[in-house]
Amino acid sequence: MSSLLNKELGIAAGIAVTSFVAGNLAARYMSATPTPPKEQPSAKQDNLKKSRTADEYVEENSLREPAVLKELREYTFKNVPMAKMVSDPCQIQFFRLLLNMLDAKKCIEVGTYTGYNVLSTALTIPSDGVIYALDINEDYVKEGYPFFEKAGVKDKIVVKIGPAVESLDELISKGETETFDFIYVDADKISYEKYLDRAILLLKSGGILAFDNMLQGGLVLDLTQEMTPEQRHSAEFLYKLNQKLKLDNRFQLSFLNIADGVTLCRKL
Ligand code: CA
Repeated sequence: MSSLLNKELGIAAGIAVTSFVAGNLAARYMSATPTPPKEQPSAKQDNLKKSRTADEYVEENSLREPAVLKELREYTFKNVPMAKMVSDPCQIQFFRLLLNMLDAKKCIEVGTYTGYNVLSTALTIPSDGVIYALDINEDYVKEGYPFFEKAGVKDKIVVKIGPAVESLDELISKGETETFDFIYVDADKISYEKYLDRAILLLKSGGILAFDNMLQGGLVLDLTQEMTPEQRHSAEFLYKLNQKLKLDNRFQLSFLNIADGVTLCRKL
């Protein structure tokens, strides 16, 4: 077997980790792999290039985005600063599948931004369900309000503005521990561990906590690469947190190489 074939099989095996969302992607992908250029890129560059192509392929062949959700996403990209903070639509579609599998009724999102995932969740949970939308600032959350209204789900959304640690502590002190099905954390990375400890208290046994951006655009893979001081602060923190999560036996763990890295913690 040639070393090139070995390499291609290695890449296909890596892609297969995420292919549970996309079906039989690895096999199809391999048949579409173009002839490598004369000057071989590094394995890492090669993988990154191919994973972007695979992401596009997955989106083309799987994304079923409710119309109002698409409108909110497009509105955000046209009108709101830092629109890259909108979570990946295929990732959020996967969350809708998880919510249905869990029969989720009570959810929390830490870090709402314009509410893309909050709206997706509200569209998915039943009429007596609730999603607490936590954010430090209402400026961006407000941009989502007309879409919550238009979708007819605003009564399922409870917005709490302020430090998320305080909002979570308030829910704990009100006796809401062990009542939540799903908690999504997509906020300031250096507070992730504080959110983890509180989320574990608030989740039911079998409930799922999802952390976003656990790969930090690849920065956690190699902390010696160039980055801004801000990026370094978050990357070093998440580098350590990823190591801790592996050893934390309070939950079942799955670190998914989708979007910017999503870690699922299912409370035992
Ligand atoms: Ca994010």
